[in-house]
Amino acid sequence: MDAARIDEVVGDFVRLKKRGVNLIGLCPFHDEKTPSFNVSVARGIYKCFGCGKGGNSVSFVMEHEHFTYREALVYLANKYNIEVEETERTDEELQEETRKESLYIINAFAQQFFQEQLLQTEEGTSIGLSYFEERGLTRDTIDKFKLGYCPAEGEVFTQTAIQAGYKLELLQQLGLSNQYGKDFFRGRVLFTIHNVSGKVLGFGGRTLSADKKIPKYVNSPETEIYFKSKIVYGIHQARKAIVQQDSCFLVEGYMDVISLHQGGIENVVASSGTALTQEQVRLIKRYTQHVVILYDGDAAGVKAALRGLDIALEEGLNVKVVLLPAEDDPDTLVQKLGGEGFRKYVEENRKDLIHLKTDLFLSEAKGDPVKIAAIIKDIVASIAKIPDSITRSLYVKQTAKMLEVEEQLLISETNKILRKGAMDKLPPQDKASAETSDTPVIQREQNNFTFHFDEPQERDIIRLLLDNSAYEVEGENAIARILRNLSDVEIDHPVYARMVEAYKTGFEQGIFLPQSHFMHHDDIELRQLAIDLLQTPYELSDNWGKMHDVPITDKQFLVRKDIVKSISLLKLKKILRMKSDVEARMKELQDANDPSTLDEIIMCIKESMQLQQFIQKLSADTGTIVLPVIR
Ligand SMILES: [Zn+2]
Repeated sequence: MDAARIDEVVGDFVRLKKRGVNLIGLCPFHDEKTPSFNVSVARGIYKCFGCGKGGNSVSFVMEHEHFTYREALVYLANKYNIEVEETERTDEELQEETRKESLYIINAFAQQFFQEQLLQTEEGTSIGLSYFEERGLTRDTIDKFKLGYCPAEGEVFTQTAIQAGYKLELLQQLGLSNQYGKDFFRGRVLFTIHNVSGKVLGFGGRTLSADKKIPKYVNSPETEIYFKSKIVYGIHQARKAIVQQDSCFLVEGYMDVISLHQGGIENVVASSGTALTQEQVRLIKRYTQHVVILYDGDAAGVKAALRGLDIALEEGLNVKVVLLPAEDDPDTLVQKLGGEGFRKYVEENRKDLIHLKTDLFLSEAKGDPVKIAAIIKDIVASIAKIPDSITRSLYVKQTAKMLEVEEQLLISETNKILRKGAMDKLPPQDKASAETSDTPVIQREQNNFTFHFDEPQERDIIRLLLDNSAYEVEGENAIARILRNLSDVEIDHPVYARMVEAYKTGFEQGIFLPQSHFMHHDDIELRQLAIDLLQTPYELSDNWGKMHDVPITDKQFLVRKDIVKSISLLKLKKILRMKSDVEARMKELQDANDPSTLDEIIMCIKESMQLQQFIQKLSADTGTIVLPVIR
């Protein structure tokens, strides 16, 4: 599988960004908020520093898609259009493969059969195809989504499958045939449900009969290969567009997905009627953090639905909601407005999930204090689900205003829930002591891999925080300003990171922690750090000046006033380090003089140029002249 480029294989499932010579993304194998999943193109491997999973292209698809070794090879062979050579496998592996593979094979056979029925038989075209055409679908769309039709007469499919050599028992297990050997989907148009990589997991069947006693939709049962809670409809067709646009629309039905696609909105999936599950949210999160949910229906239905969305907040997704006009669903609206018009409508009408919830609930309460109290509890419960503390505190501010209550009330209600949540995660013997202690309930996990500390610069940021608790810059508290500017910077040093975390927690409770808080802190490392730094006030690290050629004439001035500059310097340092890593790698490759590494050398050159652009921008921000780093 030498042709399989690890970044292309992984990139189909994980949103990757450049970091140094490597790529980095959110690990698909464990739950994380900051990326620790590394992909090295040069070495053809991936490695997660969070959960330790690692391997090559083949092991990635095995692990990720729950494929057997052979399935993984076949998958990659298909992706790259190459032949697979046979390898030896154990009997057990063979058996499991054979069983799963035969389920997939039967589903693929069924899909093919249903599609032929739809397009090539008289019954199929006059009933099924004409239905889809009435709904405005083109042949391309029908083919892209593998739509089908199952004949109304009792057992056409089952008999055909048995004649083709498939066992009735397996047809029944897949829910294609019922216990009497009749076709399960008879007389229905069919929507094929694919997994991420395009294998057929099952079907959804819609009746065209007006008889109210017949269920409108029936679906394949759960099987060894089909777990309803783990898949969203349309993900196979949508995943590339979701990554490209860094956003995903979530709708309710099959037809909504399909007609939006046809209207040019391809980044769309459906939860297929069920409440959103954590696994579905995580599946979407592999590709984007931004979800826009489209709702049609009345306010009461929407309110009930909004309650189910806390699960998306909990996973750290940025959730927007669009309420469609009462007479429309996504399908009819995109037909009315066209793709561009639809996007514009969404742009103009999307609302933040928590704001919308607050709005809807408030209008219902009509000033009744008992109802408002219940609303506050409900909203606060949602806010407490958001993992990022800064985002949380912004919501507290905004919703306090909307609800016309004191911010402090919402803060303390939120903290109650957070404390309870943290307590629930502790082992029982630790709960009693945690309840009576002021120490932070959750300790940061120790990482066991090597950091590249940007220690002096990070230390300067900590000093800024300690030094400026009562200071304001342009009307904003200095700590708030520092935290805001630090939001996209990762502090590497574990003790410094803990200190920043403490400031964030304080900030979220509306407190700007004074120096004395840390001088007497229970955490001995934090206490020591505070004491060390405050014993030598206003001393910038020596190599700050050297490193960045900053004309430090008044150090105190720099520390007190130039927060943004200090943080830009930290960012600059991190980027300079990345650039020098890239250049070192480039030199190593050039010295080795191996023509096969030419691609990687070119990549390094490009990357180094890109980093140079960042460096120039940051240098301009900081008024710094960057001298070439000599190693
Ligand atoms: Zn991981």
